[in-house]
Amino acid sequence: MSPDAASVREDFPVLDREVKGEPLTYLDNAATTQTPRQVYDVFEEFYAGYNANVHRGIHELSHEASLAYEAAHDRLAEFVGAAGGREEMIFTRNTTESINLVAHGLALPEFGPGDAVVTTEMEHHASLVTWQQVAKRTGADLRFVRVTDDGHVDVEHAKSLIDDDVELVSVPHVSNVLGTVTPVSTFAELAHDAGAVLVVDGAQSAPTRPVDVEEMGADFFAFSGHKMAGPTGIGGLYGRKDLLEEMEPFLYGGEMIQHVTFDRSTWNGLPWKFEAGTPPIAEGIALAAAADYLDDLGMEWVRDHENRLAQYALERLNARDDVETYGPGPGEERTGLVAFNVDGVHGHDLSSLLNDRGIAVRAGDHCTQPLHDRLDVPGSVRASFYVYNTTEEIDRLLDAIDDAEAKLDAYLRSDRYADRLY
Ligand code: PMP
Repeated sequence: MSPDAASVREDFPVLDREVKGEPLTYLDNAATTQTPRQVYDVFEEFYAGYNANVHRGIHELSHEASLAYEAAHDRLAEFVGAAGGREEMIFTRNTTESINLVAHGLALPEFGPGDAVVTTEMEHHASLVTWQQVAKRTGADLRFVRVTDDGHVDVEHAKSLIDDDVELVSVPHVSNVLGTVTPVSTFAELAHDAGAVLVVDGAQSAPTRPVDVEEMGADFFAFSGHKMAGPTGIGGLYGRKDLLEEMEPFLYGGEMIQHVTFDRSTWNGLPWKFEAGTPPIAEGIALAAAADYLDDLGMEWVRDHENRLAQYALERLNARDDVETYGPGPGEERTGLVAFNVDGVHGHDLSSLLNDRGIAVRAGDHCTQPLHDRLDVPGSVRASFYVYNTTEEIDRLLDAIDDAEAKLDAYLRSDRYADRLY
């Protein structure tokens, strides 16, 4: 039987709290999702039961912690469809660190003038700024695939940019502002035909849809635990084994070495070569519990639930003539987020007035300043949904937008403030 949001909510006690005397309506899931009991219980089990460093002690607690931490790598490899298991799954702090790992391990040591990196206009800064720095430091060319007016990556433009000079192509699987799902397999083909590797930013897709890195043809796939019902401080990087074997380590120190003398060091096997120092042990084990939790719900159900909520939100927002929404239109596939602006209302004012009604949304540039330049708006308000959200909460959002407008109207359109209208 399919789950329903009402029963899912019971796993998330935080959703029972009030904000400003109103029930919490949490619509900021693209930033961070809430964490179910099944995941945060892992912290108590770990710290009350077998807290110890991994791979170091011969004692029982260390052995138990090591086994659980290693098994968590296998679980996440399975969650994203990596056939190579733990050797292809590196735990990092988040998507940002995962992308930086590829930059430091592969791009910075290898790329030079005459090489090129291709990415898109819809990048999160985690990707855009990283490739910008790679280009600056290596002399490689950085090319951006256009985003069309209806919020898709322009595949024809990509074809014209991806030539034999290109060493790396980096795309977001799902845009954190537009909700667009990128045709990653097409990008994999284009990249591989040009002899380039494909990096997929999966920060918004791993939480929201079934992921199979082999099927999509990704060479690297980066994601964050805190966006997929997991804890903060942990993320992952899938990498193709042969590439990871060739790559330079990102950080140096304990855990990542095999043998050290005063003159030289050799590196540990995968994935430990890329996990220097004491890792986030409890967080890693809890991330595996998050993968179990989502798989129990069913990732197809998660995807469909997200899409249903996004379509409903789009329908209600687009029915107003004072609201502009961004990204794919009604009926088109998108994940559970809608970014929008209300005429004449600054996003920060709106989100602050929504907060007075217990509604959490995000306003600003969502770490995508160049995309907002492309959309020709300084920022947007983003409502983003997850497994526990309901259409009633979207109705509450729409009512609160009406209230906010009425309040701002009364305030700003009074004679006293008329000259401050923007
Ligand atoms: N890429 C995308 C598409 C994102 O939405 C985010 C988070 N907003 C990131 C990268 C960065 O994730 P983190 O802050 O967890 O590193």
